[in-house]
Amino acid sequence: MRLLVVEDELRLARALQRGLTAEGYVVDLAADGPTGLETARHGEYDAVVLDIMLPGLSGYRIVQALREEGNWVPVLMLSAKDGEYDQADGLDAGADDYLTKPFSFVVLVARLRALLRRGAPERPAVLTAGSLRLDPATHRVTREGAEISLTAREYALLEYLMRRCDEVVTKTELLDHVWDVGADTDPNVVEVYVGYLRRKIDQPYGHKSLQTVRGAGYRLTCAGSTT
Ligand code: CA
Repeated sequence: MRLLVVEDELRLARALQRGLTAEGYVVDLAADGPTGLETARHGEYDAVVLDIMLPGLSGYRIVQALREEGNWVPVLMLSAKDGEYDQADGLDAGADDYLTKPFSFVVLVARLRALLRRGAPERPAVLTAGSLRLDPATHRVTREGAEISLTAREYALLEYLMRRCDEVVTKTELLDHVWDVGADTDPNVVEVYVGYLRRKIDQPYGHKSLQTVRGAGYRLTCAGSTT
């Protein structure tokens, strides 16, 4: 089992590497956020031990980036005890488990074993575009914290656009991915549904996040709030 430990406190990182190596794991270290993300992206790790407060990029951003890329490597997050961040934030961001510093090494190993037994779940992370949030696990959509009720088709359209935010998505792509393949569908249906979505996710909040790109298709801004 190969582990990645992303931790900028060198003494703690070395101690974890020594201890986990003695437990039979292969352990790589990364000492800052950007290196941690790159290493996690390209290495085939069975689990990642991830500090939250890191130079360059926080542990939250790292786990979010990995989940957005469809990387479901099990992540155990470590945080300082000061309570600046809480457990819910870490788990929201896509971590699988959480330990508060200082922790006992025995507990860390037990938690890691549990994570490794479970393996990487195919679990989608919450998508965001500005104040717009979409949780693929629960199909819940909110804007500025307020719940938005969408039909199944509107939901599927929004999810596809959010996964490809800031890209121009053509009507044909939307028909292929959101409507049944081979269905005898009038392409104008896309425009109709884009209109429905705008009336739910944008207009009541004064946003214009879902844009028509004339002659090309549609684009949802990742910032989610262009006016
Ligand atoms: Ca740190």
